[in-house]
Amino acid sequence: MLLSPDQTRSLYEHAVQNHYAILAVNADSPAAIVDCLHAAKECDAPIIIETSLWQLQGHSFGAGDPILGMDRYLADLRVLANHPRFAEVPVIYHTDHIKGAGTLPILKHAMKSRASSISLDSSDLTPAENIDHLCELCDFAGSHALSATLEMEAGVDDGVTALAETKALFGEVETRHPGFLALWAPGVGTQHGLGEVNGFSTTAIQEHQQLASDLAGRPIGIALHGSSGLSNSQLADAVESGVAKVNWSSESLLIRSQAAADYYRHYGERLTKEHPDFKPTAMDNGLQTYIASGYQMRVVERIRTLNGADFGKPFLSTLT
Ligand SMILES: [Zn+2]
Repeated sequence: MLLSPDQTRSLYEHAVQNHYAILAVNADSPAAIVDCLHAAKECDAPIIIETSLWQLQGHSFGAGDPILGMDRYLADLRVLANHPRFAEVPVIYHTDHIKGAGTLPILKHAMKSRASSISLDSSDLTPAENIDHLCELCDFAGSHALSATLEMEAGVDDGVTALAETKALFGEVETRHPGFLALWAPGVGTQHGLGEVNGFSTTAIQEHQQLASDLAGRPIGIALHGSSGLSNSQLADAVESGVAKVNWSSESLLIRSQAAADYYRHYGERLTKEHPDFKPTAMDNGLQTYIASGYQMRVVERIRTLNGADFGKPFLSTLT
């Protein structure tokens, strides 16, 4: 089931208290969404489906218009997540890496559309702008009687964030608008992309998780960006240290695109008008079923690495 913002805040707290992290897949096609929900169901885990600006504007959804893209994406996800097949899978829809001039209009639209949780890309913002953007979203929620659950970030690709920055950024938004923040994404030595990771620090995760929770007076999980370059043991250590949400994009794209290349290498010869299997090979279903056969397993494996398995139904039983 697709979770409301309030249910999502409870789930993030549940993850912190039970020492697991929820896998957040940057799913960039309808078939990727289906695969992720099947994988979560298979291991009774909550799952986050997230979109960045590039999916919302991309050809399969908004075709240049991010608001249209969000409406199409969320309509598809809502129908699927609320189908009886996935009634026992807690599903979060999260906006990830929204940036540029359209940031606030897109995120306000997400809030009106009852997106489960929200974050923005702060890499081009000054600290003051970062704070102001989040405060404006909190004000918008207040003036429109909407609930909102927020992730705030700072310098996720810039090495390890100083604790003073957590006080200055996270602490300021929490002081001005208590209760909206649920996740904090400081730099902990990871990098977006598939490169090698140097300087990854579980101590930083522990310290930031403790400080953010102290500032808020409630459990705050760390959101880990740039997880693709980490080993399984590094991921498990990150979860043990206080990570509650693990973003997964580059490696997921690599697995899916390599499977697609493999499919066309194996079956490309059928793509002629004479071949009897031309149609089933050429149709989207042929390719997507082939990709799913390997991809779903990898999603399950990653959920298990994050200790996320077997928490789906127990979490839903806590909702009133
Ligand atoms: Zn990220």
